[in-house]
Amino acid sequence: MQDRKAIIAIDGHSSCGKSTVAKDLAKELGYVYIDTGAMYRSVTLFAMNNGFVNNGTIDEGGLSKNLEKVNISFKYQPEEKINETFLNGESVEDAIRGLEVSNNVSAVSAIAFVRKRMVELQQAMGNQGGIVMDGRDIGTVVFPDADLKLFMTASASIRAQRRYDELTAKGEVVNYEEILANVEQRDHLDSTRKESPLRQADDALVLDNSDLNKAEQLEWIIEVLKERNLA
Ligand code: C5P
Repeated sequence: MQDRKAIIAIDGHSSCGKSTVAKDLAKELGYVYIDTGAMYRSVTLFAMNNGFVNNGTIDEGGLSKNLEKVNISFKYQPEEKINETFLNGESVEDAIRGLEVSNNVSAVSAIAFVRKRMVELQQAMGNQGGIVMDGRDIGTVVFPDADLKLFMTASASIRAQRRYDELTAKGEVVNYEEILANVEQRDHLDSTRKESPLRQADDALVLDNSDLNKAEQLEWIIEVLKERNLA
């Protein structure tokens, strides 16, 4: 039985299915799912829309002065079963998933003042427990005392193929090689940046899902939670 509402931190590489597992897990436990990648993507879209990103270069001064104007919220949409992301009151769920945002998000999320603000918001959203939060620094920086930390990974080619299938299913015309390059580039940028680089927390459990389907991954996590009296 569950003793109390836990904080579950899921970190890992780009496009390895973190959000799918996190969403399924949150549903199973009756917890709130928080997608921190969507928050960094929203700041990136804001920066792009306001002229603070030019050919991959970020105008940090401009973004810093305007960061307080960035208001991010989530609203659960029961029909589509998604947590829709809003930027300043406008739904940006589709816009933040496109390749242009994907190509700029690692640069924006490497900026210290952006991370500081996002981490504050994430801590405020989750400190009561009852959350599953996914990202890159949840178990290391945002909630270093999380009840369960998972570090998810899968091979780059499998991750690129999944992303390709996802975008193609939405009707987007995309190129596999371009997606693979984006996945590999984000891995590199996320793991080598100075501010909160992506790394496995010492007490995180590794979940390599290259050969596991959704149900198998969920089953594996629920078993761990039961062992810890968290489910
Ligand atoms: O999870 P997702 O792939 O949507 O995240 C997009 C990008 O946001 C990542 O590649 C990473 O650069 C950044 N990110 C981050 N810290 C987080 C979540 C995402 O730096 N906690």
